[in-house]
Amino acid sequence: MEHSTARQNAINAITSWSTKGHRPNLKEKHKPLRELYASNVFNEEVMRTRLPDHVFKALRNTIKKGAPLDPTVADIVATAMREWAMERGATHYTHWFQPMTGLTAEKHDSFLAPNDGGQAISEFRGSELVRGEPDASSFPSGGIRATFEARGYTAWDPTSPAFILENPNGITLCIPTAFCSWTGEALDKKTPLLRSMDALSNQALRVLKLFGSKASRVHTTAGPEQEYFLIDKNFYYARPDLINAGRTLFGAKPPKGQEMEDHYFGSIPERVLACMLETETELYKLGVPVKTRHNEVAPSQYEIAPIFENANVATDHNMLVMETMKRIADRYGLQLLLHEKPFAGVNGSGKHLNWSMSDDLGNNLLKPGDTPHDNAQFLVYLAAVLRAVAKHGDLLRVAIAYAGNDHRLGANEAPPAIISVFLGDMLQDIVDQIEKGGAKSTKTGGTMTVGVSVLPTLPRDPGDRNRTSPFAFTGNKFEFRAVGSSQSISGPNIVLNTIVAESLDEIATVLEKGVAAGKDLNSEIQALLPKLIAESKQVIFNGDNYTEAWHSEAEKRGLPNRRSTIDSLPDLISPKSIALFGKYGVLSEREVHSRYEILLENYKKTVNIESQLTIQIAKRMILPASLRYQSEVAQAIANLKATGAAVPKTQSALLSELVTTIEELETAIDVLEEVSEHHVDGDSLSHAKYSHDKIIPAMNAVRTAGDKLEGLVADDLWPLPTYQEMLFIK
Ligand code: ADP
Ligand code: MG
Repeated sequence: MEHSTARQNAINAITSWSTKGHRPNLKEKHKPLRELYASNVFNEEVMRTRLPDHVFKALRNTIKKGAPLDPTVADIVATAMREWAMERGATHYTHWFQPMTGLTAEKHDSFLAPNDGGQAISEFRGSELVRGEPDASSFPSGGIRATFEARGYTAWDPTSPAFILENPNGITLCIPTAFCSWTGEALDKKTPLLRSMDALSNQALRVLKLFGSKASRVHTTAGPEQEYFLIDKNFYYARPDLINAGRTLFGAKPPKGQEMEDHYFGSIPERVLACMLETETELYKLGVPVKTRHNEVAPSQYEIAPIFENANVATDHNMLVMETMKRIADRYGLQLLLHEKPFAGVNGSGKHLNWSMSDDLGNNLLKPGDTPHDNAQFLVYLAAVLRAVAKHGDLLRVAIAYAGNDHRLGANEAPPAIISVFLGDMLQDIVDQIEKGGAKSTKTGGTMTVGVSVLPTLPRDPGDRNRTSPFAFTGNKFEFRAVGSSQSISGPNIVLNTIVAESLDEIATVLEKGVAAGKDLNSEIQALLPKLIAESKQVIFNGDNYTEAWHSEAEKRGLPNRRSTIDSLPDLISPKSIALFGKYGVLSEREVHSRYEILLENYKKTVNIESQLTIQIAKRMILPASLRYQSEVAQAIANLKATGAAVPKTQSALLSELVTTIEELETAIDVLEEVSEHHVDGDSLSHAKYSHDKIIPAMNAVRTAGDKLEGLVADDLWPLPTYQEMLFIK
């Protein structure tokens, strides 16, 4: 008798799948990219042609320089935006925002308004563009909003362009917005990001000014390289763990994993490529500058990377990338998995966040340049980042701390939970020279004098590029590699912007004082840099971050090693953290606390969902299948006995192994049920700690027994699609 119908049906459906029956022709296939690109975006080009000159200039001033927006401008922009969207078939608009769920949210309103004559006209006023009132009581607020004051409002972010989203049955104008409580407190991921970008701009400009720059705004640039898995939808539907937790909670290691290293940069399967091409087309229309695609290390794992942009826009765009990939994958019978560790024993997914600072004249402040003047300026910004990471590595760790990323960090495929900086040999050598105050360098053979010496040209793409480092300098930007694949890049950007703003503030204060006292800027820098480097050098590590030796070395250096989310999150509410975010107006103390509560709550909920799923799958899928097989084996032995033949030892051994392992599973389920139902007293941290210390180990024990049974039970009885099937049948 065939028991495992769902799994068998999945395999049958996949083997008869063909690209032909599905979406053989992309409707925009023959459109030139230049026509397609940003065709669904109300961008600067569109504004220039559709807005009166003075309105366009006012808006542009807000977008480029962060100037406050003149309210009289809003009505005119709203009308132009509505007309543009309606010409493209839009009937509705939505304020598009990013609440603390980590996803995006929208509430659609129609452009329709009834008039006195009982007819409907189209309307969209400036006030509706600028402010919206979603019923927000169900979004996480971490205690900021009691339900009696549950309303929040959304506020237009003119610095990220509006766009239209197409659906086969209608088109919607999406307006990027921030989301706040009525008391003005941030309830989202955009508000503090914008505040942190302002803070960084203000401080970075002070330093630029000392160098005689005419720039009037500095923004952070971000380029997130996004990793993900695509598996067949039929398998996904047969795995309750993937559907509800985004990762497999059971699954024995397949005979072939990634050890042959034959997937990385290999040719992309036809169906997957077709899906990628359509995804990219949709993203082009939204003005997302997607640049590269390739296979990743694990089977069925891929990467998509855009060209970097202003960090606010890049953050919105990365949300659109994740959502668009998911939506389009569905059309190809594929399921997108964004979880950091969908499959145990196989590489997980991260998101390398490339980060730099750029002024409004187009200069990358982390580009070494080739004149002594540019070199000096580069060294100041570099030292600022170094010092920031040395002082606030704990906060960078917080920015990537959540249940999903715990599976990946330190698992010898991703950087460890210890935050360190990679500079590479050449830059290390320069930094060493500067610290020694101009000592002779064996490599460059010269004495480093700021403002006089020319730095040796740094390799743009250093050959010794270190993939194990969580935070690496890669020629003209830093690459934060410990970011998780599913998370918004807002948090990591907020922390980077704020900690670097603080460093730049302190540096600017010292240098401004010196210059005001009539001293030479370069000698002031030359005097300051060794101090900054001495204070920060413990965070520099150019070696292999995966080794045990680094763990003990890091401990000797006093670098924090927060192994799990639970160890890391309390750093968010340390006095140092609250003072930092408060000083630069990024997050008030109440906002910091609310975020801390949300993060803990989220951790607890994630573990809770996973433990319930573990119990459900173990009891209702794995145990029944195992018992069926046990009785088959018992029956076979009984049959043999009935014929009078001797029962081979191997068969009774198999039966007893089954009996023992099933008992192991049942016992582990009992323990997990017991710890899951236990009531914990105390604050949110104690709850989350309990999840970490008690529930996770109990879950792991159930999995161990379950995976053992997968290796014993007859294949035709096994209910869950296996790793081998999910990763290799395409
Ligand atoms: P890889 O790290 O895979 O070798 P690249 O070095 O080409 O790839 O770039 C990776 C990402 O870094 C891309 O998204 C790119 O746009 C981004 N990037 C390049 N320069 C900057 C910058 N100044 N600021 C932010 N991101 C940048
Ligand atoms: Mg990279």
